[in-house]
Amino acid sequence: MAIHLAENLEKFRAVCADTACRLVAVSKTKPPVLLQEAYDLGVRVFGENKVQELVEKHEELPKDIEWHMVGHLQRNKVKYIVPFVSLIHAVDSLRLLREINKRSAAVGRVVPCLLQVHIAQEENKFGFDEEEIRAVVEAKNLAQLPNICVKGLMGMATHTDDKKQIALEFGGLRRLFDALKTATQNIPNADFCELSMGMTNDYEIALEQGSTLIRIGSAIFGERT
Ligand SMILES: *Cc1c(COP(=O)(O)O)cnc(C)c1O
Repeated sequence: MAIHLAENLEKFRAVCADTACRLVAVSKTKPPVLLQEAYDLGVRVFGENKVQELVEKHEELPKDIEWHMVGHLQRNKVKYIVPFVSLIHAVDSLRLLREINKRSAAVGRVVPCLLQVHIAQEENKFGFDEEEIRAVVEAKNLAQLPNICVKGLMGMATHTDDKKQIALEFGGLRRLFDALKTATQNIPNADFCELSMGMTNDYEIALEQGSTLIRIGSAIFGERT
């Protein structure tokens, strides 16, 4: 199936211009030539969900790309991406946050992270619950993690056609984001400015609920096989 990359990108540019959110072009499983094509059309923010693929594409493609790790991250792979990654979207444990901090310190960086919140009804999805996350962003915890900066929250809604359900989940995440933004105002390495929610099937609902980063894969690059 032919994909209309330029048209697809144009559409999401208009969406982002209307709403002041940013687009993460999720390019997982797609070949570097296709990413280069998107780059030539002006895309600078790409998202990947596998460490090895992210590292390989980073090596191969232009150096002014902002690489986002959007998928589940294992602690033993953190070291491969901290030297260059621009944002880690799905931090789901304090142990992972500590490992990112340690590896970032080793390369002299402060790495921006989002905390993933479990908002879906499916049990198999990752993320903190609300109570856990309030504990994580306490000043005494974050003071021990000077090489990470918590930039906000990320969530994935239930995979369903029920738009009301999705809106409830994203809306809840938005309210938690607002509360934590206030609660962390005086913590130096918390800077709540990003709310990463919305993918191909639910980005419109996510934008209504205040998303600042939509992560779009198939609607840009075509279906994945
Ligand atoms: C694959 C993926 C996306 C993009 O999914 P599409 O439905 O193709 O837009 C967004 N976020 C995460 C975490 C992903 O793994």
